[in-house]
Amino acid sequence: MAAVRADSYVSRAMTMLFKKTVLAGLQCHKRLWWQVHDRGAEELRESLVAQYRLREGSEVGRLALEYVPGGHLVERGDRSTAALLAETRAALAMPAISAVYEGAFSAMGATVYTDILERVDGGWALIEVKATTSLSKTEHLPDIAVQACVLRRCGVPVVRYEVMHLNRECQFPDLSTLFVREDVTADVAARLDDLEREIVEQTRVIAAPEPPPVTPGAHCAKPHECPFMARCWPPRPEHHVTTLYRVGPTKAESYVANGWHTIHDLPDSVKLSAIAARQRRAVRQGEMIVEHESLVDALALVDRPVAHIDFETVAPAIPCWPGCHPYDQIPVQMSCHVVQADGSATHREWLYDGHGDPRPEAARAILDACRGARTVTAYYAQFEQGCIKRVALAAPEHAAELNAIADGIVDLLPIVREHVYHPAFAGSFSLKKVLPALVPDLTYAGLDIAEGETAQVQLTRLLFERDMDEKERREIRDALLRYCQLDTWAMVALENRLRDLAQ
Ligand code: SF4
Repeated sequence: MAAVRADSYVSRAMTMLFKKTVLAGLQCHKRLWWQVHDRGAEELRESLVAQYRLREGSEVGRLALEYVPGGHLVERGDRSTAALLAETRAALAMPAISAVYEGAFSAMGATVYTDILERVDGGWALIEVKATTSLSKTEHLPDIAVQACVLRRCGVPVVRYEVMHLNRECQFPDLSTLFVREDVTADVAARLDDLEREIVEQTRVIAAPEPPPVTPGAHCAKPHECPFMARCWPPRPEHHVTTLYRVGPTKAESYVANGWHTIHDLPDSVKLSAIAARQRRAVRQGEMIVEHESLVDALALVDRPVAHIDFETVAPAIPCWPGCHPYDQIPVQMSCHVVQADGSATHREWLYDGHGDPRPEAARAILDACRGARTVTAYYAQFEQGCIKRVALAAPEHAAELNAIADGIVDLLPIVREHVYHPAFAGSFSLKKVLPALVPDLTYAGLDIAEGETAQVQLTRLLFERDMDEKERREIRDALLRYCQLDTWAMVALENRLRDLAQ
């Protein structure tokens, strides 16, 4: 192994840059400055979903170590950076150690922690583990390049860079192919000189008493929306061109450059899709537009009795039931309102309470709920169809019936999208936007769980956190049941409203 420069491992109490902050600085130096100097900012507080994703990423990272076995783990705990740097240095120097996990390195005022360093011919392979199912050049390469820069300055001879991510093709119970390793050496090496200069510049930025002046622009949304948008961007006027249906950022920018800030400003000469054109008409007229004739035809597909169905799912990164791949969405909760020809409605629901494979129970719950219905609907049916088909795979005795339900689902979303536009939709046809505009009495306000991602995190906790206390478990279950029930009750109300509009 080539000599590692000792001075590179000197602990610097004032080191302020970490991988996360350098990456923030690559987006914008003003964001970097705030992220370092205003660490407690409200905008940086992590949501329940973000915290869960971090935990999930750590679990995947820990499991990945088993696929590069025989290494030495530098346990972080609450130890000082100096201790972690020293242990890493000692591990690298021991020829018997074939890999170092979670090693610490510090140089140029930046400290990084590497996932895996594997000893290979001529030096080390730096492996960054990602809990995604594919390589993202825009996100993963800068991430590994920051570490690579610091290691290069530390004198660690890295001869290969790899991203190790989950393999979507892997199927439980055979997890031998759970990870894919992609060699990104050329892409990473090409970035190092520029990135090293950038890190040096970033240390100057954070040493300044004030944030640098940066004009907000397209960079604020790349690769992700900056958490400080509200500080830099003035509030946008109602019906801003960015709310035009399916407008991309480049197109919206070109409208603004022409002086067209809101949808009102867009002249007729600007050609739009049929839906966006309907939106422009609705905004200009200040009222809802309904395409009566075609709406009547579309509603003919919703023959009563109709079962309005909605699922909530878990999607484990590491598959745990036969035939499942990473991130397969598996339903563990269902709500269904059945509306009879006379308009009366009944409700059925199911929330999985066990710890094993939920799909056999899901199969029975779906069939019970839909029995007798002439139509089954969902809002954005693609999702429910996928859920039912995955359940069918695990319940072969009911597969034909389940697949017939999935194939026949009528989607309410395109019925709204193709025939109705209300100015309050603001360019979106999600139920959360459509419902308050069309059925203002129904609201998700006041619910403890009011959107799908939070529901998924809480369902995952119910399923896998065995030591959760009973009171919390009951509260989460109640909140989930209320949320899912409202989703299908909303569909009942929406169906009724559409029928009224078609009169
Ligand atoms: S909103 Fe834009 S300009 Fe403001 S800190 Fe974020 S990236 Fe920088």
